[in-house]
Amino acid sequence: MKKRILLLAGGQSGEHEVSLMSARSVLNALPRDQFDVTPVVISKQGRWLPPTETQRALETGQAQAGGDLVLHRAASAEGYDAVFPLLHGPMGEDGTVQGLLTLAGIPFVGSGVLGSAASMDKVMTKQVLASIGIPQVPWALAVRREWQRDPAAVRERVEALGYPVFVKPANLGSSVGISKVKDGAGLDAALDLAFSLDRRVIVEAMTRHKPREVEVGILGNDTPIASPVGELSFDADFYDYETKYTEGQAQMHIPARLPAEVAEQIRDLALRAFRALDCAGLARVDFFYVAETGEVLLNEVNTMPGFTTTSMYPKLFEAAGLTYSELVTRLIQLALEER
Ligand code: ADP
Ligand code: MG
Ligand code: MG
Repeated sequence: MKKRILLLAGGQSGEHEVSLMSARSVLNALPRDQFDVTPVVISKQGRWLPPTETQRALETGQAQAGGDLVLHRAASAEGYDAVFPLLHGPMGEDGTVQGLLTLAGIPFVGSGVLGSAASMDKVMTKQVLASIGIPQVPWALAVRREWQRDPAAVRERVEALGYPVFVKPANLGSSVGISKVKDGAGLDAALDLAFSLDRRVIVEAMTRHKPREVEVGILGNDTPIASPVGELSFDADFYDYETKYTEGQAQMHIPARLPAEVAEQIRDLALRAFRALDCAGLARVDFFYVAETGEVLLNEVNTMPGFTTTSMYPKLFEAAGLTYSELVTRLIQLALEER
């Protein structure tokens, strides 16, 4: 019997468009002899769109208004064997949708509530990973109320890190809302921007030299495997939204040009992080490699990484011998496995 799959895409976060692109690729790749796939696009307002509107959103890359607040049928255990929540960022990748699906008793691709929430929040991720000794940049947390009530205290804590710093909403992705701040003059605007997008903001020290950006894919539940390490190179000051999504601005190198023992260290750290955060199914774990010092620093864990056919995560597993279509099939098998 064919498995009935609900593919969720779009969503309320700043990564709505990225998700629609990924969903188109997954829709094309899921073998039709094994799967019956129903896509549902969630609009930026959080409405679950009916079939015609969903189709239009997938074609145009833009969702219309309308739809239900939550798709009643999808939120019941009836009708689907598994859900592929191909959603990035808050209200999708952060444990909220995972909670809904858990309540409904429908298996789904990827991490559960805990792994999703802990990996989405960059501060929580750092705290968990620090507790198992994973190397990371120094950082500070600020919350919105404190920024409103006592900005001087926030400034003081942040400046103790030393410039330049990266200011980021704690729960976002695709570099949305991230600023690199070179001195005190740019700090307030960067914090205002980040706080306009999140209640929690992380400020990070920058690596002493411009880091190389290396990424590794993890696949599996209780016995996860690590892909080869990949690297992204680009001309920009940092890997911002434009560099990420403008054709030709970033180059992918698989495998990364690294000494074998560094690549092995990165794969090992990624697997340890995946387990410590209680991830499941898949994750892309991103690192900074500072060639000048040999340092490897874990940057972040993405539990639903970009998933177009040219995205890093599928490319990493392609290098390991798994085609895109085999990879999405494997992810659904993992969703259906007992954990
Ligand atoms: P996102 O989840 O939006 O991808 P990241 O934390 O990965 O956010 O930051 C986006 C990019 O910003 C990174 O890929 C890197 O280029 C740059 N960056 C972020 N933090 C630092 C840091 N502490 N030191 C150096 N570069 C950083
Ligand atoms: Mg991210
Ligand atoms: Mg990133």
